[in-house]
Amino acid sequence: MKLLLLPLLLSAVTGWASICDSGQRQSPIDITAGATSPRALPPLRFDYRIAPLKLADDGHTMRVRFGQGSVLQIGDQRYTLQQFHFHTPGGDRIAGEDFPMAAHLLHKSQAGQLLALVVLFRVGAENPVLAALLPLIPARADGDHSPASVTVDASRLLPAQRGYYRYPGSLTSPPCTEGVDWIVMKQPLELSAAQLARYRQRFADNARAVQPLHQRVVQESL
Ligand SMILES: [Zn+2]
Repeated sequence: MKLLLLPLLLSAVTGWASICDSGQRQSPIDITAGATSPRALPPLRFDYRIAPLKLADDGHTMRVRFGQGSVLQIGDQRYTLQQFHFHTPGGDRIAGEDFPMAAHLLHKSQAGQLLALVVLFRVGAENPVLAALLPLIPARADGDHSPASVTVDASRLLPAQRGYYRYPGSLTSPPCTEGVDWIVMKQPLELSAAQLARYRQRFADNARAVQPLHQRVVQESL
């Protein structure tokens, strides 16, 4: 039994290593390096619904999960919001700028296509969504917590301006699966220095480094 399992385990481990290390479409990236000139792209049509809060420390970050009610429509494609979580630093860069934090809003189409929507943060004013969530981070990584009558509105994590970049990317942790649609909002939000410090007390440096662009082109909306 051991003799049969060992090669399988090794191939699984080396398979991860090869895609994470030598994949050609990995995330995050320095966006502007591969950007085309801005042009008309399909608008992002958000239909997010207020939902009961399901908040977890998943061992790497603060994660909020959603049921089926919140949808992002792009052209004729519909993606349902699955969860959002945070990274520090932000991961994706714009024109070399490194952001102190990012929110990743993960969506999935009915056909199973994954789409990560990235909202970057700069240090500035206090962020109201983080002000509500940070005090509620569970003490341990022990699954979802749903405090009574607390709701969450993911649309409050979206910037007012809806311009975006789009590129073919990947999951940012093993197995680094490619074929994930990446959309990065151009307009960052703000969080306070105290909020950043509070998040970093629990989850310091949980972002992946910028990956090579290779042959990819980054689309930029108007
Ligand atoms: Zn992420």
